[in-house]
Amino acid sequence: MNQPFEVSGQLIDLCSRTIKAAKISVLHNRIHAITELDHAPNNYILPGFIDAHIHIESSMLTPSSFGAIAVKHGTVATVSDPHEIANVCGIEGVDYMIENSRQSPFNIFFGAPSCVPATAFETAGACIDAKDIEQLMQRPEIFYLTEMMNYPGVLHKDPEVIRKIAAARKQKKPIDGHAPGLRGAMAEAYVNAGISTDHECTTLDEALEKINLGMKILIREGSAAKNFNALHSLMASHPEMLMFCSDDKHPDELIQGHINELVQRAIDLGYNIYDVLIAACINPIKHYQLPMGMLSVGDPADFIITNDLSFHSIKATYLKGQQVAANGHSYIDITTQQIINNFKAQPYQITDFTIEAHTTTKQIRVIEALEGQLITQSSLHDAHIQNGYIESDSVDDPL
Ligand SMILES: [Zn+2]
Repeated sequence: MNQPFEVSGQLIDLCSRTIKAAKISVLHNRIHAITELDHAPNNYILPGFIDAHIHIESSMLTPSSFGAIAVKHGTVATVSDPHEIANVCGIEGVDYMIENSRQSPFNIFFGAPSCVPATAFETAGACIDAKDIEQLMQRPEIFYLTEMMNYPGVLHKDPEVIRKIAAARKQKKPIDGHAPGLRGAMAEAYVNAGISTDHECTTLDEALEKINLGMKILIREGSAAKNFNALHSLMASHPEMLMFCSDDKHPDELIQGHINELVQRAIDLGYNIYDVLIAACINPIKHYQLPMGMLSVGDPADFIITNDLSFHSIKATYLKGQQVAANGHSYIDITTQQIINNFKAQPYQITDFTIEAHTTTKQIRVIEALEGQLITQSSLHDAHIQNGYIESDSVDDPL
């Protein structure tokens, strides 16, 4: 139990949408009292930021190490899909992530990975089937069913997929979506299956259509996909339906900033500060029913203090009454990590990457990567046949 303490400043009250001079008293790790003052220091006190969808594995850090850095940016929690480690290690990987995160005061709320392996075409190290999901969903440390990438399975009522969704619904836990480009009647059927979020929208049109179907939209800006510019105007029209997320965050970028950067960008664009902060701090708590404090009396003492209304530099971060970061320094210890990696890859030969020519086709279909996006597109490129294999005629971009 941490010592009782008090902090004073300008309290940003996201319930009443006001800023008032106040003193916060913390006792037994909870907000014991909030006393309004005539004057208080010019720093701001508010609930911390939440990344509503991130695969911690993308940071190449363990959960406890991730948290040690994230708190410096005022992040107090993440909602995390341990899908990537589960693809390699199965439920043992999920357990590892949960256990490791418990070594740290940082809050990582894990879900049960819905699609392991991601597709039937993937060579994965493990499989999490509907029976496994039924067991995982009963566990209190599992907060939701993670992104249902197998949307064809949902639409075609694949019995395994339907059983996984039913397991989440039975436990009244939310089901995350993943349906890039899904529109119209198919999007409607996907939502009607009980799937309530999407973080894959790349256009405003698509996001608005999904919001109208009742989905919450997570504005994603990570290391791989960047959708903030396409979607930020939703902050004016549908702030109550929004959250922010990274999806993937590489370590060099995590060191620079996190959700605080998106908050700052949205405020700089002129959106209402309360709308932006509610999306960043409160909406994830309500949607995923996270046991996080929202700066009300009786809540766990989870909050941050900033020097001003710019969120680039965070003065202090508190988790359950414990100061975990101040002025760019983290107080979270990184303990020795147990390693559970599982590599079974065989070396590849050049012939593994060749395509035999069965016809005299002069063109080949190519998967085209798009800058700042995870979605790809298909295009046709000229090719010729060399020694029985197809060879591209495209000239390499010399960068
Ligand atoms: Zn994801």
